[in-house]
Amino acid sequence: MSFFKAFDRSASTGGRNSGSGAVRSCDAARRLALLDDFEQAGLGWIWATDGDGQLIYITENAAAALDSEAEAMLGRPLNELFEADRDNPAARSDRPLKFILAAHTRITDMVVRVATADASGERRTWWMISGHPQTDAAGNFLGYRGSAKDVTVEYERTLVDSRLAEFDSLTGLANRHRMERRLDAMLGAFKEAKRSVALMMIDLDRFKQVNDTMGHLAGDTLLKQVGERLARVVGPIGEIGRLGGDEFQIIFPDIDDRGKLGDVAEKIVQLLSQPFPIGEKVAIIGASVGVAIAPYDGVEREELTRNADLALYAAKNGGRGQYRFYTDDLKDEATERQNLVDALREALARDELQLHYQPVVRTSDNMVVGCEALMRWDHPERGAISPATFIPIAEEFNLIGALGEWALHRACADAKSWPGNLRVAVNVSAVQFSNADFLETVAAVLHQSGLPPERLELELTETVFLNDTEATEQLLDEIKKLGVRLALDDFGTGFSSLSYLRSAPFDKIKVDRSFVSSCTLNDKNSLKIIAAIIGLADALGMETTVEGVEAFDQLDLVCAKGARYVQGWLYAKAMPCAELVEKLQSGEYSIEPNGPDRYRPGRRSVYRRIGVVHEDHRYEAILRDLSVTGAGIEGLLGVPVGEQMVIDLGKGQLVVGTVTRSEGSTIGVEFETRLISDGSGGLCTRYRVSPYALAAAGMPLNALKGNGYTQMLTGTGAPSKPMFMEVSATVARAA
Ligand code: C2E
Ligand code: CA
Ligand code: CA
Repeated sequence: MSFFKAFDRSASTGGRNSGSGAVRSCDAARRLALLDDFEQAGLGWIWATDGDGQLIYITENAAAALDSEAEAMLGRPLNELFEADRDNPAARSDRPLKFILAAHTRITDMVVRVATADASGERRTWWMISGHPQTDAAGNFLGYRGSAKDVTVEYERTLVDSRLAEFDSLTGLANRHRMERRLDAMLGAFKEAKRSVALMMIDLDRFKQVNDTMGHLAGDTLLKQVGERLARVVGPIGEIGRLGGDEFQIIFPDIDDRGKLGDVAEKIVQLLSQPFPIGEKVAIIGASVGVAIAPYDGVEREELTRNADLALYAAKNGGRGQYRFYTDDLKDEATERQNLVDALREALARDELQLHYQPVVRTSDNMVVGCEALMRWDHPERGAISPATFIPIAEEFNLIGALGEWALHRACADAKSWPGNLRVAVNVSAVQFSNADFLETVAAVLHQSGLPPERLELELTETVFLNDTEATEQLLDEIKKLGVRLALDDFGTGFSSLSYLRSAPFDKIKVDRSFVSSCTLNDKNSLKIIAAIIGLADALGMETTVEGVEAFDQLDLVCAKGARYVQGWLYAKAMPCAELVEKLQSGEYSIEPNGPDRYRPGRRSVYRRIGVVHEDHRYEAILRDLSVTGAGIEGLLGVPVGEQMVIDLGKGQLVVGTVTRSEGSTIGVEFETRLISDGSGGLCTRYRVSPYALAAAGMPLNALKGNGYTQMLTGTGAPSKPMFMEVSATVARAA
């Protein structure tokens, strides 16, 4: 069988090559020889089909490459030799071979995957084929003549290249380019279908330190493990990408439930705060997470990304190890922080900061055994600002050294002035602790104040172990040698590694408040953790103080688990030094616990303008307090108990509630569905009213700012007569 023979029919029925027979046959013979050379040189293969698409010729070597023989392959449809073009990112044309063959159009350098007999599917072979349709003088289709070539090596390389262009080679996750494309595609398609997409930005805390102290290889290993942990948390519900450096991103199609997203974000923060084994060593980092959700927080990629970034930035600033949902007021956060740090610097210079003292009580006889010094800052315009807000800012802006030194001086001087010999505990930030001169500072302060060292206790958190464990332990030993006591603060919230607990010289462990606040609220785990920490401390010969006890049911529970020292509002809040001195007059001080029988998750005092929608009327009111289950609202007169209303907390956050209390212009409302944590100490609704719903009600998507949401609720028609009277609430700052 020869190529010539196969085309005998078409050749003899004439064609374009009409000329003298002698020339033609000479031509044909020469061409045949050329073709033979071509085939033999392995430059390529030749194939031909008949009008039905069945093979009538194929180069012997080509057949051999398919583990067959040319003769045996004749009569088979060409298109069966190749697999349908699945998963082929490099395919330029979206028209499959079958389609082209049926249309009798030309095939130009088409890469196709060969269907091999290899059952394992391991062997992958790619051919590049070209072919010309042949017709007779009347234009009837006669079949194809074509060439083919094995391009497996080159093609697989382009596959790898295109993978490289789309995926991060270190972690195997999608890269920035791919994530952008995916997000664009989703946002485009979802806008049509009125679906939502959540975008989560993740940034590692302290990654740079790991890179700097342990080396780049360690950094790479760490990033790989981060990718694996993320995949474990996210599973199939989201697409993970690494944007570069220590920045990761996750796209969650069809999720707008902030409860669920908050859970995922929290799990991410938790899992990434666990130690990473790197060779013989261990690295400890943390993560901050920002979330923005389309269509609520943006419908275009740029806007959504920017807002998720803003949320991330806010989360990092909020003290790290947090997640944060985007809200409109985040835009001003950066300036806000700058203003705050300037004011803080000034306050420090003018000696406007204060230390208050919260008693630590022995539960067996209610005796106060010590006090914790807590910083207080009364901002001239903004009122009291929590140290939980300004300490992280001071850390970031290099102010913590000075602030911490001031606190040490003040606390030791104050304690020296107290009647009796109560101990004073001073908080030391990890940043302050890692300052080279920390040991000297402590020694100098003790010397200057004349306070006996055993009356000073330093409260450190686990984060002091993050950098160099050996150096840390050495420093702790040096501090101990001064005669100072050491307490481990907020235990249980970080990575809580037992290895350093065993060797580090702590005198006391403080059980974090978060376990206490949840232990009476159907959270069996919290109580178990409290019991475990107390047991552990006992075994290691350390004391424990349980923090944040506010109610008797909590006290009973923690005492039953062996707590001997308690610090909490049930005994006393932090008080100014003068007040403490007064109570210490006799030199001894005991406190009867006094507070609620049962712990109720606190209603937070707030002051915020909100909307109240009742029937088809919208009222302006002031939100005075807010908890997960209800709110106190001021500004409406004559609202009967039992009435249902919709509370508009802004930005599409609507909650249905029932009035349970009504006194004057103040009402108490109980929500139908609980609010959830917004990740930064605030509360938000699980869902928001979708801008799509508004669009459906006749409002264009891009006009959705501010009050658009409630307009939908109350309709656009003329409002009916209001049922309640709106009174302007007195604008007084909450005491
Ligand atoms: P911390 O060291 O865990 O301090 C205990 C916090 O719990 C204090 O908050 C205290 O007022 C609060 N607390 C005590 N009992 C209760 C209770 O029964 N219920 C509730 N809800 N809270 C209770 P505060 O004073 O706002 O301080 C917050 C954090 O700021 C402190 O947490 C500490 O980490 C930091 N901080 C405060 N003062 C200093 C300081 O002088 N230096 C450093 N580095 N950090 C400080
Ligand atoms: Ca503390
Ligand atoms: Ca604490």
